[in-house]
Amino acid sequence: MEIKQMKQVEVVTDVVCDVCNQSTKLEFGTLSAHWGYGSRHDGEKYELQLCEKCFVYALATLKKVNRTGFVGDFLFKLGHLT
Ligand SMILES: [Zn+2]
Repeated sequence: MEIKQMKQVEVVTDVVCDVCNQSTKLEFGTLSAHWGYGSRHDGEKYELQLCEKCFVYALATLKKVNRTGFVGDFLFKLGHLT
């Protein structure tokens, strides 16, 4: 037997970009890190939610930096940006 009851539930209706503070209309990418023991930033956590424009800009910037040799190995694929 099912017993039904109306309940209020919180739902995410929008995510604001952490860089430009614009609405993402729920189209966003997440950049996150949780640095562990032995790293220079041990215990630090980061989670940025970025709109499509800022996310792609960040990837393009990282790719550009990587090409110029300022940053070592990246373990992600940039796919369409290459
Ligand atoms: Zn943005």
